[in-house]
Amino acid sequence: MSRVLIVEDEEHLAAGLKLNLEAEGFVVEVEENGQVALERLTSGSNGFDVVLLDVMLPGLDGFEVVRRMREAGTFVPVMLLTARSHTDDVLRGFEAGADDYLSKPFDLSILLARLQGLLRRKTWLRDSEEAGQTEELVEFHFAGKHIDFREQRLRWDGGEQPLTLMEATLLRYLVRHEGQTVSRKTLLEEVWGVRQDTDTRAVDNFIARLRRYIEADPAHPTHLQTVRGVGYRFVAEPSA
Ligand code: CA
Repeated sequence: MSRVLIVEDEEHLAAGLKLNLEAEGFVVEVEENGQVALERLTSGSNGFDVVLLDVMLPGLDGFEVVRRMREAGTFVPVMLLTARSHTDDVLRGFEAGADDYLSKPFDLSILLARLQGLLRRKTWLRDSEEAGQTEELVEFHFAGKHIDFREQRLRWDGGEQPLTLMEATLLRYLVRHEGQTVSRKTLLEEVWGVRQDTDTRAVDNFIARLRRYIEADPAHPTHLQTVRGVGYRFVAEPSA
């Protein structure tokens, strides 16, 4: 059973979501205040598998909640609930560390599909080694860096960087397609499972973050290359 925290101050919406998710077998708790939710999520083992986080909240807004969660080292997958699909909100959400977003109003079936998508990826990252799927990619070494996909952590001599679920999933996708050029649209579909007409700048934003983690000079990337007019390509060992 997956535990969901709904952070939403509109009582009717929160109650409706809770009822529907419980009917689907989720264990659901609700918080109305961003500050209170943040305190729960960052206090030791909070036990939640996924967070549905509204943007407009009393206390702290959703962007701040997810940003401070990530700063505190809490990497529970977060789906932001945004009012209509303001592109700026979507980009701000990803930048803050959210894993996915849904624009209000949304269909319950779509919410469930996206939630299951987040939970599946989380389960994969955590369990693939235990399941003995040795062909799957649980870790990767390149250029003095070690990516642990299960623990969502990038390590190098003298340092480490935790990755959000989506950062780890995107990096894993790129590593698995090493040397191949992948388009932004493909990344949105394959990594985020987004088929609607989403602004592809969300992808660029994530790429910029990954470059800050893995490139010696993020302004002149050698591993995460831009293929002009097409998309991106990951190269583990670029020729000098
Ligand atoms: Ca609200």
